[in-house]
Amino acid sequence: MQNKSTEKKLNLDAELGWTEVREEFLKPCRILILTHKNPDGDAIGSALGLKWILGQLGHKVIVAIPDDAPLFLKWLPGYNEIIVNDRKPNGNISNLLNECDLIICADFNTPERLGAIEPLYRESGKRTFLIDHHPSEEPFTGFNLIDPTKGSTSELVYLFIKKLNFTEHLGIDAATCLLAGIMTDTVGLKVNCSYPEVFETVAALMRHGADKARIYHEIYNTHSADRMRLLGYSLSQNMRILPEYKTAYIALTISELNSYHHLKGDTEGFVNYPLAIAGIVFSVLFTEQNDHVKLSLRSTGDFPANQFAQKYFFGGGHLNAAGGRFPGTMKEAVIRFESVLEEYRELLAVSR
Ligand code: 5GP
Ligand code: MN
Repeated sequence: MQNKSTEKKLNLDAELGWTEVREEFLKPCRILILTHKNPDGDAIGSALGLKWILGQLGHKVIVAIPDDAPLFLKWLPGYNEIIVNDRKPNGNISNLLNECDLIICADFNTPERLGAIEPLYRESGKRTFLIDHHPSEEPFTGFNLIDPTKGSTSELVYLFIKKLNFTEHLGIDAATCLLAGIMTDTVGLKVNCSYPEVFETVAALMRHGADKARIYHEIYNTHSADRMRLLGYSLSQNMRILPEYKTAYIALTISELNSYHHLKGDTEGFVNYPLAIAGIVFSVLFTEQNDHVKLSLRSTGDFPANQFAQKYFFGGGHLNAAGGRFPGTMKEAVIRFESVLEEYRELLAVSR
């Protein structure tokens, strides 16, 4: 991510660079796979999927993440072996970065997304391979496969493995992790998957042993009663609708979260519900953290949630799914949000 001149872009529909990449991945080495902070299903699924496949190829592979994933992802095969940096801040990570031969960055493409790992990663100066589906103009060292037309990085990992003729190394554990990643980024195969090829990948992963019904169950039907009550409260008491902006938002303070015994990951998916209201094209979930307010943004159609997050809330992401932060109180975050919405009034008016 430091020097654009050594960047080598890979394209699934072209041949340039692929022979070199295949040869490189055939030589066993020590690989460290990194993914982004607040890891979601696609982050964990793509990282662990790669780990299983590369392990089969004879590599020594370790996955490291800035912070823990929510409970509904911890059943994924290999999760327990992941190095979670904030459990033992910067203890192992420096060694792992120094000792590895290659770093793979999965499901992100700006180093800031590594949180506390970012400065250590930058210092390491190690060769990096990037695989991601977020749009990016960032300079990046080494080979990278960025394809924002894909609904998930996990799908891209499967296509990458297929392109390299490595699918014989794809076992049930890898297939399970990759299908879990596809499922979470497409919200249960509902959004970001309106192209037939993604279902060919789903079918292939099922043929490699992924149990779609079990994965769906583990991700969507293992919530606590408290989480369901928090969702009920968020929609019935807390959701604010701004019809003039075709926007709705939910703003949960720490004390509201605490009154439902909130655990990490409990609010995952809440932001999607307001989009089910006729006429709403933009939905935001604010969750108060210790020193800032976290934003989750979702949109439909052409309304650029990522641009909005980047411009006003130090964030980014995809056109229809983005994240950001506000360094202040919840009250200030909401006031700021409503005031900047005005700048998008015309665009929101024509969005559908
Ligand atoms: P979520 O709302 O689930 O936290 O994030 C939605 C999407 O936006 C994900 O694809 C995530 O990777 C991306 N995203 C979340 N937070 C940030 C951020 O702070 N910066 C950038 N660039 N992307 C983010
Ligand atoms: Mn993703």
